[in-house]
Amino acid sequence: MLFCTKFRFSVSCRFAGHIIPLGGMFMDKFTIQTCPLCGGVELERTLTCIDHYASGEVFHLCRCRDCGFLMTQDFPPENEIGRYYETPDYISHSDTRKGMVNSLYHYVRTYMLKRKARLVMREAHCNEGCLLDVGTGTGYFADMMRRQGWQVEAVEKNAGARDFAKQHFGLDVKPETALGDYEAGSFGVITLWHVMEHLEYLNETWETLNRLLNERGVLIVAVPNCLSYDARHYGAYWAAYDVPRHLWHFTPDTMQRFGAKHGFILAERYPMPFDAFYISMLTEKYMHRSCPFLRGLINGTLAWFSALVKKERSSSMIYVFRKKKSGGPAAV
Ligand SMILES: [Zn+2]
Repeated sequence: MLFCTKFRFSVSCRFAGHIIPLGGMFMDKFTIQTCPLCGGVELERTLTCIDHYASGEVFHLCRCRDCGFLMTQDFPPENEIGRYYETPDYISHSDTRKGMVNSLYHYVRTYMLKRKARLVMREAHCNEGCLLDVGTGTGYFADMMRRQGWQVEAVEKNAGARDFAKQHFGLDVKPETALGDYEAGSFGVITLWHVMEHLEYLNETWETLNRLLNERGVLIVAVPNCLSYDARHYGAYWAAYDVPRHLWHFTPDTMQRFGAKHGFILAERYPMPFDAFYISMLTEKYMHRSCPFLRGLINGTLAWFSALVKKERSSSMIYVFRKKKSGGPAAV
């Protein structure tokens, strides 16, 4: 189903009641009224983005005037967002090798899986233990860590992805509600690979992560970086804005502040410069430009060099958090 709401949407948001006329239909939307990072109420519209992946709908990004945090405004609530993930590619794209972009994606994914596993073991200072992978998707990372000897728990809200992980890897992936069932301090490592930007209950999730991590544990979070070279280059077209699936758009600064707010210290940051290639190719495709693969390759290379000079310009970044010794939340 395609809703072309480019201009109508922008004038039709009513109240904070979340009811928005859309393409002749009334749909629930979640209107953010206070910044989840600092509580500020002045949210300024800064970018207008199109959902190129699934619906064709238009969404606006708002920036908090107090702390600069960027968020997708009027996003679909949890019970409706499922259809924005529903394209024939959502599950299958993780297992198809058709096309040059997908081939490159699979090559890089294998490389990144190995790199992630090494990073986890280096940061955890051990080669085995209890790991929780939140938003495990189709289970590739969870499977790799289990094969490395780790005791792995995995949660994923998409039932199709859980089935895929079960069938391909024999993983018993649980729905996200299982997060409330684990004992406090159950895990030495918790990972969220490109998941946090999707979570409606952002602060609540941070609190849950703090509860589930043991006192010497390590929390590893990878998210796109909206201050990256490629984000600045492509502006509203940047594929990693990925509205409305991505609700929050983090920078190195806002990630550090979220961690501090919930009792964590940012211990390390790692660039993920290869993401720039995939994101650039996808963006070029969304822009309907000629030779998207070649253009994406060129821009990805420029982004890669840029991140080499300054890692804070990397397309995505991995953040490593440890618990503050006091364990209590701190002011931002
Ligand atoms: Zn704010």
